[in-house]
Amino acid sequence: MANITTVSMSIELLNTIFEGAKYLHPKETILMLRGKKKKDTIHISELVVPPLATYGHGFANYPLHLLPMDFSLVGTVHSHPSGNKTPSDVDFNHFFGRIMMIVGYPYTSEQDVVVYNAQGEKLPLQLTKE
Ligand SMILES: [Zn+2]
Repeated sequence: MANITTVSMSIELLNTIFEGAKYLHPKETILMLRGKKKKDTIHISELVVPPLATYGHGFANYPLHLLPMDFSLVGTVHSHPSGNKTPSDVDFNHFFGRIMMIVGYPYTSEQDVVVYNAQGEKLPLQLTKE
């Protein structure tokens, strides 16, 4: 059986992402995810606003190569205002870190978020109360 990583984060953190996505809608939001990998779980603990963030111009225009080398950054989250949470080729070309989280309109429930690894496999997301 393949060694699939689980991603975990608090409901509160997910709601913070949703709030940001709603605020910028119909433009895209993009944030960095800070966390730690422990055994087979990546725990996301914090959101980091990327330096030089140019909101609303899409993932494609974001200069990921300008990011500092920070190994506590485990990936990115961005919004799909269309509501379609399928990653685009551009998304995979700009993959950063271990995971890519996509939140889709209307940004309200667990159904509006998906997480992928660099191989394009969907990862389970575990929401915690703390
Ligand atoms: Zn995308």
